Amino acid sequence: MKEPLEKNIRCLKNHLIFWINHVILDNHKREKNMMRLRPPAWIVFIFCFALPVFSQSHNLHVYRVFISHSQEFETLRDFDFTVAGTNFGRWIDVICSDASAERMKAKGLSIKKIDTAHSKAKESALLDGFHNYAETREFLHQIALNFPAITRLDSIGASVQNRGIWALKISDNPDADEDEPCLLIEGCIHGNENHALEVCLYFIQYMVENYGVNSEVTHWVDNREIWVVPLVNPDGHEAQRRYNANNIDLNRNFGYWWGFTASRYGTAPFSEPETQAIRDLALQIKPYGSLAFHTSGRVILYPWAYTSAPVAPDDALFQETARELVDSINVVDPAIQYNFRRSGTWYWHGGEHNDWMYSQYGMLSFTVELMTSQSAPPSDHENEVVLPAFRVMLRRPDKGGITGRFFDSSTSSPLPATFKIKEIFDEEQLTPRKADSLTGRFIRFLPQGDFTFEAHVPGYKKIVRPITILSNDSMRVFDFFLKKDADLTLKNYQIYDDGDGAIHPNGILNRGESAQLNLKIANVGIKPSTQVLGIVSSESPDLILLENDLSFGTVSGGEEKFASSPIAISVSPQALPGQKIPLEVQLRDLEGNKWVFTFALRVQGFFDDMEKEGREQWTHDTFGDTPNSHDDWQYGIPNGESGDPGFPHSPQFVWGNDLGSGSWNGAYQNNQHNFLQMRTLNCSGWTNIYLQFYRWLRISSGDEAQILVNNQVVWSNYRRELKDKKWNLQIVNISQIAAESDSVVIRFCLQSNNSGSSGGWTIDDVMVNEEILLSVEPEIVATSPENYRLLPNYPNPFHDVTQIRFSLTKQVAVDLAVFNVLGQRVKTLILRQLPAGNYLFPWDGTDESMRPVSSGIYLIQLKADQQMFSNKIMHVRDEQ
Ligand SMILES: [Zn+2]
Repeated sequence: MKEPLEKNIRCLKNHLIFWINHVILDNHKREKNMMRLRPPAWIVFIFCFALPVFSQSHNLHVYRVFISHSQEFETLRDFDFTVAGTNFGRWIDVICSDASAERMKAKGLSIKKIDTAHSKAKESALLDGFHNYAETREFLHQIALNFPAITRLDSIGASVQNRGIWALKISDNPDADEDEPCLLIEGCIHGNENHALEVCLYFIQYMVENYGVNSEVTHWVDNREIWVVPLVNPDGHEAQRRYNANNIDLNRNFGYWWGFTASRYGTAPFSEPETQAIRDLALQIKPYGSLAFHTSGRVILYPWAYTSAPVAPDDALFQETARELVDSINVVDPAIQYNFRRSGTWYWHGGEHNDWMYSQYGMLSFTVELMTSQSAPPSDHENEVVLPAFRVMLRRPDKGGITGRFFDSSTSSPLPATFKIKEIFDEEQLTPRKADSLTGRFIRFLPQGDFTFEAHVPGYKKIVRPITILSNDSMRVFDFFLKKDADLTLKNYQIYDDGDGAIHPNGILNRGESAQLNLKIANVGIKPSTQVLGIVSSESPDLILLENDLSFGTVSGGEEKFASSPIAISVSPQALPGQKIPLEVQLRDLEGNKWVFTFALRVQGFFDDMEKEGREQWTHDTFGDTPNSHDDWQYGIPNGESGDPGFPHSPQFVWGNDLGSGSWNGAYQNNQHNFLQMRTLNCSGWTNIYLQFYRWLRISSGDEAQILVNNQVVWSNYRRELKDKKWNLQIVNISQIAAESDSVVIRFCLQSNNSGSSGGWTIDDVMVNEEILLSVEPEIVATSPENYRLLPNYPNPFHDVTQIRFSLTKQVAVDLAVFNVLGQRVKTLILRQLPAGNYLFPWDGTDESMRPVSSGIYLIQLKADQQMFSNKIMHVRDEQ
């Protein structure tokens, strides 16, 4: 039952007040009729996004906070409140005290009181009509009992209160770990989001009942491994609470940017048994994608959740898939329309499920926020409506991308090669992807576009293959046979200042500066590489290379070596701060091998190694109105007292709270508010700006360390204890704030309360630049010419005849054949020498004896000159 929009708008106020008075306030008793009288659902959302409750005050009210910019969230989340409702991108209703509301106003938030006095809400919902824990367990056991050929039920862990966390696997041969793409489905990580559980059970029922009936379902059960964990948080579900029994928000407890959220994230990443169970399952099955169901908001969310910028390296792929998910849902019922967005553009939260899955496995992971209200009754479910989303995810491994296996060319044993897409890989954000060590299998989804696929195993020749993905392309299948070799890689580079001989960190140079550049290479191969010579060049007019020849002599297998002498370079005075200067290095050896690498030097934005006091005009002072405010910032050498470091990060000097110089003890005092401030930095025209520095930070519980950019908080410890035991690199993206102004002022603040004290800030090697400057691992662009190509065949899937297309650049012996998924040769199509040219060869879906083959997936394999290519195709026989 969908109500017209106008009526919804007219009724908004009445309904909202109704809802607040009845659903929130009087929910202590379970009133069955309540759910039928719920407000028009699109108005009031409860939330996956519910922020934690801090306040114990009795004098609570509902305020509407108008949100037009994500910065307002950052301001808002410093306050104590709970979420009562939200309207995406426009406002958020919060329950808080009048005093809190006044403080929000003072911070510049636009806010309006909505209700009259009420007491604090108790989270609860009616479980009538929803499956409780025991019913869920019984449902899964019955499925496993009735469909043993295609399901298996595992307990993957136990909750805090010792309830089983159940995972149902749906696949043919369910007890075998087959070489099939794996999809993970999860529900109810937030215990009171009941529809999220129901949709998983519905999907299970749909799959098992349609196996052998519906050809699509049959295909997926036969060719995928589908794991469903319908109830991730059984304790929370039983109590009808969002959190688990330890009061932790499980969707903040995952190990990527963990702790980067206000509270209830746990004592450590994966501190909770429920998140451990999901983590361990994912590590075991290595899924290509996941759907995690929540309520509410009719929106599909994808990484990153922890930040709004930078976007995930695979943002284009996420967007393309999210659009497909939403389009597939929105055609079902015109009255039910979903949207999609990057999680982090809503508000930032670390330790999130999808962020971790994606960062670990490049997994295509989505959150589906069902319904428009968390309190929607069971009869209002959207189970059928979102069914096409499962279909989109299950179909994905047959769509654009590259898959196959890696083998040793001489032994044919599988190799766990590291692979990446040159245009997408981002080593700061993602764990490099590796092929499966047992099978050598890799899979990499790609959106439309031109890419370079690179794969590498130390000791073997690199694989570099250009790949073009068109819309509606099928997955390209290649099996790679890697040859052992001498294999050089650019390992590192160093830049020495001509003046003082100091090493510049990570390839940063000042404008107009002359320097010495030296390169280190490594032979990660097995055979020696002899008389290695290199030539350095740059397209940039801003880099002058006074020499360009490098010589390395012989580099044996496993050896790392600098060039025998560095080369002189200088940066033009016209170069822009933050500018990237590309360099190319070509290497060759006496054996005739060639390698090409590119990397970049960057022109300095801001860098202070703190070695000259006053050079960068740091200032420090007290702030605020605490009576004992005390400015204890010191410049000098830390002496290791009160948890401070005993040595600087770079040669000698640092800035810090009470370094212990003079008669001080190294610890900050109680009730102090002070800051260290950087000079104003002009950054007009910069994008993607990062603050990077080394810190040794010791803060006792209740005290707060903050980083402010233009007076806005970009980082805080949120008053929790923090004890650095080494120098830690900290990187903060300040692009958003810097974009609002031509210049930035950065402040490191400390605010202590009246109990406990520790070493405070110690800060060294501060840099503000346009890029993350972490790694000197170069991009590798070595390419080998493509002599043979197997193009996607057409049509695919096919009924009668499909055309196999391939091209040869020279005369060569060709073996073109069809294989089934078990690797058995079904039919040899061509086995002879062919001259160079483009070929089109038909296959009519018959085997060697001209009998029609059954419907299903087949591999077309082209072998030419020791190289092998394959394409997956699908044959669909006409109904007999
Ligand atoms: Zn949720």
